Amino acid sequence: MEFRDLKRQYQVLKPEMDAAILETVASAGFIGGARVKALEERLAAYAGVKHCVTCGNGTDALQLMLMAWGIGPGDAVFVPDFTFFASGEAVAFVGATPVFYDVCPDTFNASAGSLEAAVRAVLDEGVLTPKAVITVDLYGLPADYPAVEPVAKQYGLKVLEDAAQGFGGRIGDRRACSFGDGACTSFFPAKPLGCYGDGGAVFTNDDETAAMVRSLCVHGKGTDKYDNVRIGMNSRLDAVQAAVLEVKLDAFEQTELEAVNRAARTYDRLLSGLHTPVVPEGYLSSWAQYTLRLPDRETRDGLQAALKAKGIPSMVYYPKPMHSQTAFAGGRQYVPCPNTECLCGTVLSLPMHPYLDEETAAEVARAVLEFLK
Ligand SMILES: *Cc1c(COP(=O)(O)O)cnc(C)c1O
Repeated sequence: MEFRDLKRQYQVLKPEMDAAILETVASAGFIGGARVKALEERLAAYAGVKHCVTCGNGTDALQLMLMAWGIGPGDAVFVPDFTFFASGEAVAFVGATPVFYDVCPDTFNASAGSLEAAVRAVLDEGVLTPKAVITVDLYGLPADYPAVEPVAKQYGLKVLEDAAQGFGGRIGDRRACSFGDGACTSFFPAKPLGCYGDGGAVFTNDDETAAMVRSLCVHGKGTDKYDNVRIGMNSRLDAVQAAVLEVKLDAFEQTELEAVNRAARTYDRLLSGLHTPVVPEGYLSSWAQYTLRLPDRETRDGLQAALKAKGIPSMVYYPKPMHSQTAFAGGRQYVPCPNTECLCGTVLSLPMHPYLDEETAAEVARAVLEFLK
């Protein structure tokens, strides 16, 4: 059994995919060009924002956005304690200080209350300047923007949506990658919209920010790429990945987003009574992960071992709070993050993807229930 069945996806998309890749190779336009531009326009329209700028990966996307906003040493950027390392790494990489805040136990996403407590603690200390908050659309579910946005506004923080796992999610008719002052996504193969290598993108409605990111991702280019007006990076999406993404976006729009939600409903039904993922009213998840909460660490670890013995893959996203990562050791912890501590010991993600059929979901559910009974 596959945790995320990319082989099956390829078999389904093979005719279009092979044609798109070979056509790009034959054209010998490998970096940038019309394919990348067309993809950016399509992604911006899909998300419902003015600008999309593609880049090398999701981590670069976060870094580019922070750089474009001029965030650096002496600045505090608030980051959920429960997320993938890159959300905090990008902040530290530009020289700013990541300040970790807690998440809600039921949605796994930003707690506006903890965010506000963290901002106040930083202000009370008077050393760092609060500049921005990163919200993460964890496991495919948009963060609680209606609660986070007023806090950000009150304290003058920019909101950066880390939608690396969130592409395709929605709150009402607002799509992921359109929340906050800017958003980032990743096209890492296992994300909801993945390519065949690394890739990423930033989204914003702000003309100036978009222009700055376009400069920063090509060596700080000015009027052309041999006129370099600032220190930037080399972070671009290549044309082959753009071709792959065009085919994948067709499938995502036409069938996959719906199919993955059908798979989630199947798990919900078969596992009802357990702590299955909570999707608040009016929200749509793109199900980067389907994550159970177990009563304690022993049960979680036991379940994972029992599944493994039956050939069923599962993953712990994430085993360690950000503030406990060795790379952040020595940083001050401004607020307690008990929900994150608890989740790290009790979550387990099950096989999940748009090609997960009823039979396979039932096999997973049977194994889960058998262990827990
Ligand atoms: C995957 C991921 C990233 C980084 O994306 P890459 O393309 O792997 O660099 C950042 N944030 C979150 C929440 C992620 O899941």
